[in-house]
Amino acid sequence: MSPFQIISNWITSSYPKHVIAQHLAKVALNGYRGLDALYPQVKIKAEALIIKMSEDGKQISIIETFRTINRQDSLSSSVTNASGLKSYHQYGLSFDVMFKEHKWSPPSEDWWTELGEAGEALGLIWGGRWKSRDMGHFEWHGTREEFTWEKLKPHFE
Ligand SMILES: [Zn+2]
Repeated sequence: MSPFQIISNWITSSYPKHVIAQHLAKVALNGYRGLDALYPQVKIKAEALIIKMSEDGKQISIIETFRTINRQDSLSSSVTNASGLKSYHQYGLSFDVMFKEHKWSPPSEDWWTELGEAGEALGLIWGGRWKSRDMGHFEWHGTREEFTWEKLKPHFE
């Protein structure tokens, strides 16, 4: 392979670390916030989740998407167990929602179950399944688990 080919392959690389680095650069350079700060495939899933829940009369609001390392580290242990770069919020791969009308207290637990299952049907991981449950939290690890924080963190330290 010629040096040119090596360099051009690197530039167009689809290595997970490069893909996420490009996304984070776009977020920073454009000052993206909210849904726009989500990695494109996660943004599409979040939008689909909003529509699905709205169709069922259970409207949700996005409360947080991208989160800086500083902000992650400032959160208390009652909110998160993850320190900076161990949360998918630092990579634009995660978002938190609540119910528009009922916030964190929907009329029944079924509302959370419906929300979680709708997210899972879109290929998202739902925090409501965790031992310390995070009902409004969703994250995405890629289609082949290529975007796990364990794989990404070393490249962003
Ligand atoms: Zn979250």
